[in-house]
Amino acid sequence: MKKDQENIKIILKECPTCEKGKLLPVNDIISELSGYVFVEKGERCDSCGEEFPYQEETQKTIQAARKLAIWPETLKLHRKLSKSGRGIIFRIPSDIEKQLNLNGNEDVDVSLLGNKIIIKIN
Ligand SMILES: [Zn+2]
Repeated sequence: MKKDQENIKIILKECPTCEKGKLLPVNDIISELSGYVFVEKGERCDSCGEEFPYQEETQKTIQAARKLAIWPETLKLHRKLSKSGRGIIFRIPSDIEKQLNLNGNEDVDVSLLGNKIIIKIN
């Protein structure tokens, strides 16, 4: 039985970033974390060069990085808001304060993303 040519043709996906290039499979996507280099398989755009590692490859990297204790765990802390005469106060947890080296005089941009409040330190 002859193989149907159409079935073995690789259909290349369009790049979601530039919408011009095509995503080509690659096995040399490099990411660096704390001086460790990880190589992942994935796809790369032939136009803008944007890289899209496969999900399972990213998971492997995260697991390896966790073993090496170099994966930054997301800080997720529960805090209660409090009220003052002029409004509602949110106190920055001291872990975050230390991690970002805040001194309390920073300018911030506050934006709303869905039901999340994003505070960007300038
Ligand atoms: Zn692209």
